Amino acid sequence: MEPKQLKIQNHWLGTDSAVHEKVSGKDSGLFADALPDTIVIHYTGGPSARSAVNTFRNPQVKASAHIVIDYDGTIIQLIPFNRIAWHAGVSHWGDRHSLNRYSIGIEIVNPGYLTRSGSVWRGAYGDTYGEEQVMEAVHQNEAEPRWWRVFEPEQMQACHQLCEVLMQTYGITEILGHDEISPGRKQDPGPAFPMDRFRGRLLDTDRSDETPEEKPRERRQGTVTASSLNIRKGPDAGSERVTDPLPKGTSVRILKEENGWLEVETVIRGWVSAQHISER
Ligand SMILES: [Zn+2]
Repeated sequence: MEPKQLKIQNHWLGTDSAVHEKVSGKDSGLFADALPDTIVIHYTGGPSARSAVNTFRNPQVKASAHIVIDYDGTIIQLIPFNRIAWHAGVSHWGDRHSLNRYSIGIEIVNPGYLTRSGSVWRGAYGDTYGEEQVMEAVHQNEAEPRWWRVFEPEQMQACHQLCEVLMQTYGITEILGHDEISPGRKQDPGPAFPMDRFRGRLLDTDRSDETPEEKPRERRQGTVTASSLNIRKGPDAGSERVTDPLPKGTSVRILKEENGWLEVETVIRGWVSAQHISER
């Protein structure tokens, strides 16, 4: 479903563009003056919008959110935008902590990271996904790549339109991922969500432009295609070698680019005899 012109009245989206599934008793009352000014983006971590809404409606579960966005772009509102929902938990950003009282929580249906078994990828609830629904990427808070469920274009479009109307209505000035305000504890929305581009377009502050040679949020990965590849201390064929050449197939993380050279980092994992390692 493509969301029609979104309108907010009395802190609820119109029923012509959103489904209402009111959740009561799972908020901390009204926001303070001039708040909310932030949007926090999440993924649900589950297989469907139904399971997410059921969880947020369950009085036993101490979690709630303002919005759930289904795979087809359907927007479901659970809590009015003037009340404090329970989506961020232990979190901090700048001088602030416990971001619930500053922010609107948008949960996008997505199982998060997946495990691969052959040509099938599985979520935590036995839900399965095909090759065209997954991507391999390194999370900004992690070192190793994992498999992630991609977000559907309908979800991205609905989320964008929703953020636009929330910005106009509430004067939102910040859009953050749960993984940015609760790093280590939370992985959502993760690397499948193009956060820099998304908030850059909405807030007109594309932070990836500030350091064009390094884009910390957009990790680039590569694989050595030469049979063996010299790795040097500088971007120059005359520069000293760092170590033995990298064999073909070695995966590398790309850190920088300069005059046809890439600065890369490689992580090799395996077991070695302890007597030949001096530990720092
Ligand atoms: Zn979250």
